[in-house]
Amino acid sequence: MKSVLASILAALLSLTLSSTTLANNVPQSTEEARVEHAQQWINFLASDELKGRKTGTPEMVKVHQWLEKRFQAIGLKPLPETDSYRQEFSFQRKGKSIDAVNYLGYIDCQCESDQYLMVGAHYDHVGQNPALEGDITFNGADDDASGVVASLLIAELLAKKESLPFNIIIAAWDAEEMGLLGSKHFAENPLVPLDRIETGIMFELVGTPLEEHPNSAWMTGNQYSNLFDLLQNDFNKAGWSLDADPFAQMGLFMRSDNAPFALMDLTEQKAEQVFRHGQQADITGIPMHAISVWRGQDHYHQVHDEAELIDVPNLVALSEVIAEAIANLPADTKVVWKENPHFKFSRP
Ligand SMILES: [Zn+2]
Repeated sequence: MKSVLASILAALLSLTLSSTTLANNVPQSTEEARVEHAQQWINFLASDELKGRKTGTPEMVKVHQWLEKRFQAIGLKPLPETDSYRQEFSFQRKGKSIDAVNYLGYIDCQCESDQYLMVGAHYDHVGQNPALEGDITFNGADDDASGVVASLLIAELLAKKESLPFNIIIAAWDAEEMGLLGSKHFAENPLVPLDRIETGIMFELVGTPLEEHPNSAWMTGNQYSNLFDLLQNDFNKAGWSLDADPFAQMGLFMRSDNAPFALMDLTEQKAEQVFRHGQQADITGIPMHAISVWRGQDHYHQVHDEAELIDVPNLVALSEVIAEAIANLPADTKVVWKENPHFKFSRP
């Protein structure tokens, strides 16, 4: 919940913004229009009304309807041999059955390739904590409304291209916060053959750049595949940098929606073998990584992860850089695992 003062300020600000737009009456650039609707998307997803987007809560129905509308407006198709964007599943938590749903759509590449590149983020968050005083809502603006908005912006940009090097799957995962359950469900019950998923990028906390790291993002598990190298050039051309994972010791490569794809048969035992005993483990997986701009700020999983924190123009700019980088991949691109001391990877 925002403070009263913050709400008044926000109301005044939006009043000023809309009256300027009306008064000037000049057509906005597409860039400005993108920033404006990206801001609306963040405001919606991070609103108190959605009570922290907890999987299985009644408020999630509003998010589902919203995702449905966004996917349709962008022109995404349901995955081949499916007739809706929804992949429903349920799971047990504390003796109760919880219903969840992934949203999936795709853009046909208008090309020879029958391979897919997956772009996505989780739309669920951790809900509310009524035991707190004052603000009880975990709005999850950065985690991971920012990632959902980035995925939708990229989808919008790629859908306008005449052709693409890969078919693009856009994924909005549910139940990430309960243990990566949505992406895990898809990886275990794939709606396209896994060997046709060439690679993927999942977004986590891409909304809050630090001043000392302008125009930059970083990738988890960057040393494990050549995807990092493949994207870097386009980042540099746009005046951005794609950096190595600054928190390698946190194991974030294993903690986002890329993990159920990249580390399909990772067990606790294997993780221990790798990170405690320094031994290499055999792993089956698709080279898939997460991209983030978060640099350790304290809003992570706190009630003050609010829409106000999100630098929307930066989020739009990052999405444009990544959309271009994807569109510019050569048609014969192979994303391959690299030799590394931790995992001996093979594709499914
Ligand atoms: Zn997250």
